[in-house]
Amino acid sequence: MPPVPRVKSTRSRMLVPAMIIFIFLQIFLIQIVVTMKTSIDFYSLAKQHGKPIAALVPDQKQSSSENAPQDVVPAQGAAPAASLPSGQDILSCIPNAGKRVAITFDDGPSLRYTPEYLHVLRENRVPATFFLTGRNAQQIPNIVGLIAMEGHEIGNHTYDHRNLATLNETAVEHQISSTSEILTKAIQQEIKYFRPPGGNNSQTVKKVTSKMNMQIVMWNVDPWDWEKNKTANQIVASIKQQLEPGSIILLHEGKPQTLTALPILINELQQDGWKFVTISGLLNYSQGAAGTGKA
Ligand SMILES: [Zn+2]
Repeated sequence: MPPVPRVKSTRSRMLVPAMIIFIFLQIFLIQIVVTMKTSIDFYSLAKQHGKPIAALVPDQKQSSSENAPQDVVPAQGAAPAASLPSGQDILSCIPNAGKRVAITFDDGPSLRYTPEYLHVLRENRVPATFFLTGRNAQQIPNIVGLIAMEGHEIGNHTYDHRNLATLNETAVEHQISSTSEILTKAIQQEIKYFRPPGGNNSQTVKKVTSKMNMQIVMWNVDPWDWEKNKTANQIVASIKQQLEPGSIILLHEGKPQTLTALPILINELQQDGWKFVTISGLLNYSQGAAGTGKA
């Protein structure tokens, strides 16, 4: 009997395509697992930073230095050259505002002093603008909320009162954005104004604030109220001597002599017909005629 030719069984004919399908399935499954793991990593990172996930996904259009995590303080370095954005004024006074002036307090908030400053302003029904550091605000967010609740304005004064003229763009951006984040969380309002510590501006500071749509606010009246042996009367006399229509007065928090000077200053200026407004109140009279900064 001749040998019966071996006919491939249906099972063996199906084996090769089945194996191919199996390999493709495996590749597909591996891809799903990798995608899920990446998503989980971003999710946990977002939770750690308290940020939306999208904020942590690197943007291909940005340079690598701009993608540095916000809670890492970049190393200090020479500020890179940057051109001054056109049309951005550094505010120091608004002459068009007439007999209106803005009192500003830098370096707060302080648990010891801010409530006392607020008390004087409340008693005299005078609004002011507080330039706060992120580090101080982070410790006492309730006081930040109180400042805003009492009708005063809040501005950004960097995270840890750093001289920005010595920092590179990433570091400047971090100082300003981390502080705005803390302040916005405390008062549920966008922070529009920025004052560099020591008035130390740079092309980088101007570039970064312009990008963040923030106004740099300087001053044109500085009584040097922080000086150790300064008396309240000297502070008031110095302010009155320098005062002009639409002036921005620079004062500091945490100074007993400034606190003593405050009710005297308010009283004497009101008697001379001056009115007090916030920085936004002054800007209502700007009409493109803002003074230039004298950093
Ligand atoms: Zn300061």
